[in-house]
Amino acid sequence: MKKIKFSLLLLYFVSSNIFSQHYADFFNNDACRVDFHFCGNATHTLVYVNKVKRESFWGGRRYHLSTTMNLGDFRFQIVDSLSNKLIYVDGFSALFHEWQTTPEALHTSKSFEQSIQFPFPKSAVTLIIEKRLDLDHWQQLFRLNLSPTDKLIRHNILRSIPVKVIRKTAPPENAIDIAVVAEGYTSRQISKFYTDVHRLTDNILSHEPFTKYKDRINIYAIAAPSEDAGISMPQNNDWKNTAVESHFFTFYEPRYLTTTRIFKLRDYAALVPYDAIYVLANTKTYGGGGIYNFYALTAADNKLATQVTVHEFGHSFAGLADEYFYDQDVLDNTYDIKKEPWEPNITSLVQFDCKWKAELPLGIKIPTPVTDSTKTKIGVFEGGGYLKKGMYRAFYDCRMRTNQAPEFCKVCRQAIEKRIQFLTEK
Ligand SMILES: [Zn+2]
Repeated sequence: MKKIKFSLLLLYFVSSNIFSQHYADFFNNDACRVDFHFCGNATHTLVYVNKVKRESFWGGRRYHLSTTMNLGDFRFQIVDSLSNKLIYVDGFSALFHEWQTTPEALHTSKSFEQSIQFPFPKSAVTLIIEKRLDLDHWQQLFRLNLSPTDKLIRHNILRSIPVKVIRKTAPPENAIDIAVVAEGYTSRQISKFYTDVHRLTDNILSHEPFTKYKDRINIYAIAAPSEDAGISMPQNNDWKNTAVESHFFTFYEPRYLTTTRIFKLRDYAALVPYDAIYVLANTKTYGGGGIYNFYALTAADNKLATQVTVHEFGHSFAGLADEYFYDQDVLDNTYDIKKEPWEPNITSLVQFDCKWKAELPLGIKIPTPVTDSTKTKIGVFEGGGYLKKGMYRAFYDCRMRTNQAPEFCKVCRQAIEKRIQFLTEK
């Protein structure tokens, strides 16, 4: 308990120091992107840089630059070389990190593309990449000294890619900017892509708290052309040439639809200012994926696309965990129940104080039994994060648990609202 109080105090100290820091003191109006490879296996994580790019737009936040919401399996810090001051920090997760929990990672080493983006610095900085050990502790993986005048920082952009503004309600610095990238649409299917973007982003905006903040949400459609229509399905030996080479059967899971071509994806997203990337896949087959501060991906034409679109955005935008679990005992080592997960909507009860404990009514039973009267109330329901035992969620049902749930539960809504405010408010 003492340890928690101490780290909270430290965080407050760092935060109060930073609120006086102005964006313009350290950064230009464009973005700096660092492409790297996560390499390793189940037990080793290494970082190797691929390239550094200067991009035309910075769509991210301009306030709270050196504070974090403590989300993500990794974080990066930007330190001003002259003053040694922390001037920017952000959390993120990675497909590589998910792969590290698969059986394949026990006997094979692989590399995965990853990119991070931050405002372009005016002076020399150091980039530090760290891996989360638990809720409050980090391990340094990598350091890179960056000079903004380095002639090898690339500044090439894709040309001739059609971009359409779907909605623009506020300037990027006061808005959540979502870059929706076409995947598996041929150049003849651009108008279908725009129609799909309208339909599926309307679904996001129809869910609270996105509805409440819809005057702060900008959406851009980037019509990345694919040679083939549709999406690769390795389980059927069906491989297609598509814009970001996404496919089903990720980690041999039939419905897990992802792309590993992150550098390509970021090149498309760079055509607009963005806080979040959404890949819209031109297929009827059920599937998708969403990873915090990385991207979300959904099958546009599946009959459950409405629900899946919003669910995956819950992962990628707000760092929400899956609240579902398997009734049979499935060996899943995504979460260690001896540690508190960083995701706001599940708890192992190890550091429950930092989750929804304060909102519980007096005398609530843990675990909360499922009855007609508890089903709609806040509680501590056992099962979540793929685990039947030892992991808990706040409500019986939620958009992060089933496709039948009508909306996000209150804890998820609060987490999304906090994220919107963090990115758009002073
Ligand atoms: Zn929830």
